[in-house]
Amino acid sequence: MNLVKKLVHESKYLVVFSGSGMQRDCGHKSLRDPERAYRIEAEYGYSPEEMFSSAFYNTRIEPFYQFYKKEILSEEMKPGAAYQAIASLEKEGIVKTVITKEIYGMCKKAGCKNVLELHGDIEENRCPRCGKVYSKQYIKEAKKVPLCEDCMVTIRPGIRFYGEMIDNGIMTKVANEIAKADVFLALGVRLDPDFCDQTLSYYTGDKRILLTNREDPGDVNADYVVHGNLNEIVPQIL
Ligand SMILES: [Zn+2]
Repeated sequence: MNLVKKLVHESKYLVVFSGSGMQRDCGHKSLRDPERAYRIEAEYGYSPEEMFSSAFYNTRIEPFYQFYKKEILSEEMKPGAAYQAIASLEKEGIVKTVITKEIYGMCKKAGCKNVLELHGDIEENRCPRCGKVYSKQYIKEAKKVPLCEDCMVTIRPGIRFYGEMIDNGIMTKVANEIAKADVFLALGVRLDPDFCDQTLSYYTGDKRILLTNREDPGDVNADYVVHGNLNEIVPQIL
């Protein structure tokens, strides 16, 4: 851990990737969690993958919003000590960019300013016609399907559905940031072939640090690995 701390503090351009393990250590169960997925399928008659897709959204808008409001928007997520630690490293100027796939804006809630959200943010829902942005609260309070108050068209959730392409503009920024990094810090991420191919391949250095709560075969793709609860180990690099 001391070595990791040293590498972090001596870095010139540190890029952080905040993975699903970060949320798990804050008590969040993802839609893909088997227990949760089973319960959702029993309750709605569809799997979370089916419902959280653009096909479902485009054809069954009312049940989609029922599911979305209850299963996604009603979760109250608070960033734990690991997120706070990353935010203070950013404030010190050590962390340059945080990349994440989570949709709850946790990094921003902790105080990070330079965040690239690959899968969007539940707070940034847009009218597809005029582009007006609506908060999570507005979507939650809508009677059935939330409509733009100016255009009366359905507001599109500010997140990426399963199987949807990631926005090109964001993908380019992410690739550029990772290419600039001398140290790449992955938190709660599985370094599986997909991740290595789509994300880690932009990194050209030899300081891939992985802090994670679950052992995984992909761990061998990191140069430095520390296992443990992220809310305990991430603050140790401060
Ligand atoms: Zn509008």
